[in-house]
Amino acid sequence: MEERITGHTELVGLIATPIRHSKSPEMHNAAFRKLGLDLAYLAFDIQEYQLEDALKGYKALNVIGSNVSMPYKEAVIPYMDELTDAAKLCHAVNTIKNVDGYFIGHNTDGVGFMNGLKDKKWDVINKEMTVLGAGGAAKAIVVQAALDGVKKINIYNIKDDFYKVIEDKIEEIKKYSDTTITINDIKDLDLLRKDIQNSYLLVNATGVGMGKLEGQCLIPDTSYFHSDLKVADVIYAVEKTKLLQMAEDIGLDYMNGERMMLFQGAESFKMWTGKEMPIDYMKDFLNIK
Ligand code: NAD
Repeated sequence: MEERITGHTELVGLIATPIRHSKSPEMHNAAFRKLGLDLAYLAFDIQEYQLEDALKGYKALNVIGSNVSMPYKEAVIPYMDELTDAAKLCHAVNTIKNVDGYFIGHNTDGVGFMNGLKDKKWDVINKEMTVLGAGGAAKAIVVQAALDGVKKINIYNIKDDFYKVIEDKIEEIKKYSDTTITINDIKDLDLLRKDIQNSYLLVNATGVGMGKLEGQCLIPDTSYFHSDLKVADVIYAVEKTKLLQMAEDIGLDYMNGERMMLFQGAESFKMWTGKEMPIDYMKDFLNIK
């Protein structure tokens, strides 16, 4: 790695906290190496009071761009000079491109998820999907799915603060798309069952299934599934969540969050470098089947 770094090498950053577990530095540095790009990607674990200085530092050092992860995806917005539609609608930025001190804020999570579906050869356009969750990942997926032309999106969440925020968000998304979007209480199991039966795709976009919630699942049992249902989880920290295990148990096609992670990275990579990430090479590198 050090052999690559010269006086010409330029920097891409990642700001978040905690951040040491992130796979993004390995992923982007492997892609830079593969394409012979004179760039390096480094993670910076910063505290909230350091955010403004960190962003000013990016400008002073002419860092070409950055990823932004939790908990700063919203907090960086006031420092952006321009936002893409996806970033505006999600009210969250996960990618910054620095054009000579002018910051463009983008959100690549939703595109990453949708491109992950394409890579898996799942076609949800003009069809119905059910999304569990109303937080950052869910919002990004719902926004992009609506912009891309999914016919109907049924969102389910517990009645927390995220629920209230997504209710307003749905009205905003409707200005950009004809998709029918509903938000429902996850406790309404009869409605959930009916919506899953009508769905091509079921997505878990909550953290239920990892960390303290590992081994848990928001769907009570496999009778909620139908035989052609595709099941996706945004979680990548656990290779096979309980939801995906349930899908496997009855022979359904499923995927975890690794593809979303790869393709959101690929979208950011394109913004910074103007080049396509070498996807097949990266899939091997990250062991994505
Ligand atoms: P968030 O905090 O914004 O949202 C959390 C969501 O989980 C909310 O909908 C909340 O209501 C729900 N939730 C939390 N605890 C719950 C519980 N006990 N029961 C039911 N629902 C509960 O978080 P986020 O940024 O949306 O992240 C969610 C997951 O998505 C994380 O696992 C994260 O790693 C993953 N993620 C993956 C990618 C990727 O590229 N694959 C990208 C972003 C996020």
